[in-house]
Amino acid sequence: MIDIQKIRRDFPILDEVVNGKPLVYFDNAATTQKPLPVLEALANYYGHYNANIHRGIHFLAEKATSAFEASRTKIQEFLNAARVEEIIFTYGTTDGINLVTQSYGRTFLKEGDEIIISTMEHHSNIVPWQMLCEEKGCVLRVIPINDAGELLMDEYEKMLSEKTKFVSVVHVSNALGTINPVKEIIQKAHAVGAKVLIDGAQATSHIDIDVQALDCDFYVFSLHKLYGPTGMGVLYGKRDVLNAMPPYRGGGEMIKEVTFEKTIYNDLPYKFEAGTPNIADVVAAKTAVEYVEMLGKQNVANYEHELLVYGTEALQSIEGLKIIGTAKEKVSVLSFVMEGIHPQDIGVILDQQGIAVRTGHHCTQPLMKRLGIVGTSRASFAVYNTKEEIDKLVVGLHRVKKMLN
Ligand SMILES: *Cc1c(COP(=O)(O)O)cnc(C)c1O
Repeated sequence: MIDIQKIRRDFPILDEVVNGKPLVYFDNAATTQKPLPVLEALANYYGHYNANIHRGIHFLAEKATSAFEASRTKIQEFLNAARVEEIIFTYGTTDGINLVTQSYGRTFLKEGDEIIISTMEHHSNIVPWQMLCEEKGCVLRVIPINDAGELLMDEYEKMLSEKTKFVSVVHVSNALGTINPVKEIIQKAHAVGAKVLIDGAQATSHIDIDVQALDCDFYVFSLHKLYGPTGMGVLYGKRDVLNAMPPYRGGGEMIKEVTFEKTIYNDLPYKFEAGTPNIADVVAAKTAVEYVEMLGKQNVANYEHELLVYGTEALQSIEGLKIIGTAKEKVSVLSFVMEGIHPQDIGVILDQQGIAVRTGHHCTQPLMKRLGIVGTSRASFAVYNTKEEIDKLVVGLHRVKKMLN
């Protein structure tokens, strides 16, 4: 059991008053709020040991370096990666996917090779692959979904062949909440010799991740959706795959030796970390992960599931409201549409009542097109949300109906 009122006190932003009403923050799939320990880790770094890392020999530089590398070890444990050098710090999920398409993709994929993604991908797992296809002449194939928002695994199997060289799919859909059967997807891709990337942006805060058990070649996520800072993310890659890849960006830190004739690249993970990294946010990422570990992922998942069940029932009681995304396996994301009312109007009226939801296409325009809608309103729950807040959402939605019908 977890004490929600105690957890809420860790998030000072939850005390904000918005448009004269106490804030109800239901936009957690866009970014989660940050607990005090994370805020303190940032202030502590800048206030007490800000320095550039790895090359300094003075006290502050060594302290900053060891905090930075301690974060790498913490993330390794968090993902159960076999080796610490398999953890590459990036600026986020988008940056990690671009690293893989630009480095692995441009080196190993060629004309006619097939890349498989799915209908429910975020734009950041579509566009980088399209850019690669345009350059290299690869073919992008898309796994279809059913009306509940679940991947059609039979169709996926039919797509796989010796032409398939890469499969890149989302672990948990940000627009629908669907949890995809990624282990099975990975096994089937490997059976035809393809490499696999999993977009874990929405998964890490809800589900235990074990990259060795999954056996994925790459796993990417952003810390800002895991109670950590923005502008910081992780690319996990298998060591042998990463070693075979050329650097993505050139500059300081990623080298061993530079002459004008030839540069010798650094070893993993530094080969992929050119320039001064986002030191403060990497340091605070460790605190964010420790915070989630302190709560216990299973406790969090159980509580969020309770919110999902409660919220689903409450929303279904509203006439004319339809939930979009009804997969059997899903996290605490409630996307919905209301008859005759534009999602944006719902968002504006809820905001007047202090309730923050996201409206629109959620960076998944092809998915919206498949579902035949322009967008949805989305309430996504985190560990600090409550049933009372869901009740406020229901009251708010009744007000939306009264104002617009
Ligand atoms: C948020 C999100 C991304 C992009 O993450 P950034 O932090 O913006 O780079 C990619 N995929 C999914 C599923 C997401 O939810």
